[in-house]
Amino acid sequence: MLIVKSWARLFLRYVTQRMSPEKDIKKHIALPPARGLSDQFGSRMSEAEKLAELIKESRSTVALTGAGISVPSGIPDFRTPGTGIWENVDPMEVANIEVFRRDPKRFWSFYRPRFNMLEDKQPNPAHTVLAELEERGLLEGVITQNIDRLHRKAGSKKIVEVHGTVETSSCLDCGESYKLEEVETLFDGDEIAKCRSCDGSVKPDVVLFGEMLPEEAIFEAQQMARGADLMLCIGSSLVVQPVASLPTLTAHSGGKIAILTKSETPYDAEAEVRMNGDVVEEMQAVLQLIG
Ligand SMILES: [Zn+2]
Repeated sequence: MLIVKSWARLFLRYVTQRMSPEKDIKKHIALPPARGLSDQFGSRMSEAEKLAELIKESRSTVALTGAGISVPSGIPDFRTPGTGIWENVDPMEVANIEVFRRDPKRFWSFYRPRFNMLEDKQPNPAHTVLAELEERGLLEGVITQNIDRLHRKAGSKKIVEVHGTVETSSCLDCGESYKLEEVETLFDGDEIAKCRSCDGSVKPDVVLFGEMLPEEAIFEAQQMARGADLMLCIGSSLVVQPVASLPTLTAHSGGKIAILTKSETPYDAEAEVRMNGDVVEEMQAVLQLIG
């Protein structure tokens, strides 16, 4: 029920954003200036400086990423009106498990080009900075809503993909797994992906609308959130479950929240650091400040 509710909420938000005349105005409203954190010399620190300090001081930093981190890689956020690949389709209707079962041809007519579009996309420096922080022992891992596998390509090791990934697709009958690159070879005359071994239906290992979220990944993400003393949220408006509740887990365990995203989030008021600039520039600046 919770799952249904959260997807319903996403859908409502999607519809509201598309319909609201305020949407464009809202986007350009500047966030309030940083709260008065000062360094030991009494001068005001920039948000990037504060974040760099927090990362250096933290025992366990976890990154939580959403569509915004992949936008500079050429993957539009479907919730940004006018730019998304979902602009002319209703995602609830097409990327839906019921459609996959009832009308796989219709499902693949939408998903096949999407697969092809994602195949060659490359990580951008924001992904790379996170991989480097992990390499240097300054980041525990990444929890992501993204299915684009760009954290993997950037070299991140510990990645929890709460909405699944396009990396693989699986046969619903025999469980055989296929790499993204292989899926294109599985289409039959009806343009439906079929299992090579048993002719069963092959489904992307992403969470479709109407599907349960992967329990194991959610559990792992919750554990990471509870154990973090700093949660760095990047490119997510933090309204879609399960990630919407993860910063709360960190905060309840006494951890701090840092947010880098253009849109408003429900955690803006309690965030220790609130940045809304370009995700690549900001992350590069933070890495440089860490030294
Ligand atoms: Zn099979």
